[in-house]
Amino acid sequence: MTTQTPAIRISDMDKYFGTFHVLRKINLEVARGERIVICGPSGSGKSTLIRCINRLEEYEGGSINVLGTELDDNIDNIDAIRRETGMVFQHFNLFPHMTILDNCTLAPMLVRKQSRAEAEEVAMQYLTRVKIPEQADKYPGQLSGGQQQRVAIARALCMKPEIMLFDEPTSALDPEMISEVLDVMVGLANDGMTMICVTHEMGFARQVADRVIFMSDGEIVEQAPPTEFFETPKHARTQAFLGQIL
Ligand code: ADP
Ligand code: MG
Repeated sequence: MTTQTPAIRISDMDKYFGTFHVLRKINLEVARGERIVICGPSGSGKSTLIRCINRLEEYEGGSINVLGTELDDNIDNIDAIRRETGMVFQHFNLFPHMTILDNCTLAPMLVRKQSRAEAEEVAMQYLTRVKIPEQADKYPGQLSGGQQQRVAIARALCMKPEIMLFDEPTSALDPEMISEVLDVMVGLANDGMTMICVTHEMGFARQVADRVIFMSDGEIVEQAPPTEFFETPKHARTQAFLGQIL
């Protein structure tokens, strides 16, 4: 994985669910260190797009290249890409029967072959970074939604990924917990992490995004830096969407 290549290059990518054409000729290049926000109506294909990037979904046409590696059927390539792409979901997806610490050490021990001591040390660093080291021995069900989402971010970071993918990380949270999660994401952005965030938190988009992408009906309809995107949206569908959420 060389440093000259973009973080992600998606070329003419098509995806179907059965006969339903969910993603249509997607072209997207993400530079290393770039922060992308994706927004758009429910059902427009945002989750499916980012799930394709780490092969949680397969795609049918075109190509995806991540950090110089082709995302094809080669399992070694898929594994290599998954190691470098951390994913945070709307519903946290922590392992409920494992402690917070074990949630964070499992993949580094299994995949990165770290010793338990090494993995625990890294996990405690990231749990400290998301401001919940004192919760390490608890179980997910004992934590608030905001705390669980911060654990999910820490868990992803423990794999030392090059790229972080966020799928509406705050939309299942009570309003008072949204900022504690966004603060962690802003910190990551400021550290230069390559990020793709599906979110409707437009304050976050204005603050950290290099580019905002609007999707509708399986297509990238419009993309622009945040100021331009919010002040002068060009496409009627973008204008209608922004009119509803702002
Ligand atoms: P978004 O994240 O923008 O709300 P999704 O990517 O979740 O949109 O879904 C895009 C479309 O694909 C929706 O119409 C959804 O119902 C459909 N879809 C999503 N996942 C599946 C699936 N596993 N099988 C069939 N259809 C799906
Ligand atoms: Mg979605």
